[in-house]
Amino acid sequence: MNTSSAAETQLSYKLSFDEAAQHYVDVQMDVNHWNGKDLIVKLPVWAPGSYLVREFARNVEQFQAFSGSTALKVEKINKNTWKISANKATSINIKYKVYAFELTVRTSFIDAAHAYLNGTSVFMYIDGKKELSSTIKITPNSTWKEISSGLESVHDNKWTLSSPNYDVLADSPIEIGNQEILKFEAAGVPHEIALYGGGNYDKAKLTRDIKQICEEATKVFDSHPCKRYTFIVHCLPSGGGGLEHLNSTTVQTSRFGFNNDKSYKSFLSLIAHEYFHLWNVKRLRPEVLGPFDYDRENYTSMLWFSEGFTAYYDNLLTRRAGFYTPDAYLEVITADINKVVNQPGNQVQPVAEASFDAWIKYYRPNENSSNSTISYYEKGSILALILDMEILRDTKGVKDLDDLMKYLYTEYYLGKKRGFTDAEFKAAAELICGRNLNEFFSKYVNGTEPIPFNDYLSAVGLRLIDQNAGRSSEIYFGANTKTDNGKLIVSSVVKGTCAYEAGINVNDEIIGFDNYRVDDLNKWLGYKKVGDKVDVLVSREGSLLTIPVTLKANTTLKYKFDAITSVTADQAKAYNFWMKFDTQAEH
Ligand SMILES: [Zn+2]
Repeated sequence: MNTSSAAETQLSYKLSFDEAAQHYVDVQMDVNHWNGKDLIVKLPVWAPGSYLVREFARNVEQFQAFSGSTALKVEKINKNTWKISANKATSINIKYKVYAFELTVRTSFIDAAHAYLNGTSVFMYIDGKKELSSTIKITPNSTWKEISSGLESVHDNKWTLSSPNYDVLADSPIEIGNQEILKFEAAGVPHEIALYGGGNYDKAKLTRDIKQICEEATKVFDSHPCKRYTFIVHCLPSGGGGLEHLNSTTVQTSRFGFNNDKSYKSFLSLIAHEYFHLWNVKRLRPEVLGPFDYDRENYTSMLWFSEGFTAYYDNLLTRRAGFYTPDAYLEVITADINKVVNQPGNQVQPVAEASFDAWIKYYRPNENSSNSTISYYEKGSILALILDMEILRDTKGVKDLDDLMKYLYTEYYLGKKRGFTDAEFKAAAELICGRNLNEFFSKYVNGTEPIPFNDYLSAVGLRLIDQNAGRSSEIYFGANTKTDNGKLIVSSVVKGTCAYEAGINVNDEIIGFDNYRVDDLNKWLGYKKVGDKVDVLVSREGSLLTIPVTLKANTTLKYKFDAITSVTADQAKAYNFWMKFDTQAEH
């Protein structure tokens, strides 16, 4: 018996799905041992890991609160906050419905077949009391037999889950339905793969391959912080992408892509990406990325590390696990480098700014984004590569980027039990390299200077050569088009090209060149040469305009890897250490 008047407030949720076919979940939030004061509850406006304000409260309906059978007065005080006049009540039952019909990894989706719930769009929290533990009782549809999540079940009843605080609840998506469940152990930790949607996967191979990725990721950090880990895999007609969580992840993939070599490798790389996040970002993190403020944007300049370095490791781990040969891996890196160096925005937006402005730019792209922004994933992964090269060179091939990752994890997550500051990250990188990295940060992180790749890659005896060098006779027009109702419409214009400089606009309909009707731009350009002046006839908002354009040469870089002919012993040692040839098996 608890006679204390200051008994800890108890929180529990009940979820039921009487209207699953109509995409609703009924939520009951029970607050017991409340202090009788007005109760303020909130729903997050964003889902951590996906840096956009998504306004989840727009899907909440019929919010009500009761004390016993008495309805309590409810006032909505801003877009995502409800105030309940408790009137001295110590037990309050809140009821609301959530409409869930958005099948992405960061939202919630319910239909007759299954429910996929993200905590941030379903569970409210008591303002100022995110530390409260809770239980979650789920009444599934009668046809649903399975539940998969990172949350612990209570008393071996899989339909009752518990969470130590709101942050964990918000960070543990739940899949309920008839998903196929595969189990394995990796790094001494039990793992579960929950596959919704069917597909042409080979169960034994999928389990074996994912296990290998998990083992490879664990080697980077030498220790695994999870008691168990859950992969929720949505197999859909098409799709890719995932979202990382504390001890789980959700990924989307193409259900019939499992027997296609290229898409299967990118699926494994996606698995490696989300899994690597269980260390990098979920635990080892910039200081503002946890605990989160669910009410507003949480700004950081470090996503080029948190996302970019994870993007570097996703392919590197897939390589180390033997799914890419070294040559195939170098081709993957080359494609990433070519994409970044040819994007005009790479010369406009420093990657630290790309991170800070993710909320308004990366997640809200427009027709000019590639001219004005750079992806912190893609540029960040290239910065990881050159920092890896820097460490290999400075330490003569006895340390690499793994040592920096391990150091940061040990020092900040395990040791100081907090996130790192931008300055602490720089100091850690300098400690591992044994030299100052002012140039790296000022030129490539906070600046937009071109990276002298070969100065870095020589550390492992590699260099890049530009296959387009000397091919200045090729024309690059620079207006990308789509065909709409038989019309040739400009969809984007690449900064720096002749189309851009001449003032061809997005949404222009290209009708003719030099008084001839045109239906295929490339065919027509084939008759011309660099330096030719042409008149382009366009329709812009119904008016016909003739725009003179002077055709310019293609200056796109097209790098490929080449080995240095006489490799030194240091370079060979660093290359082997980077590829982990001494410890990894080929297959
Ligand atoms: Zn990521």
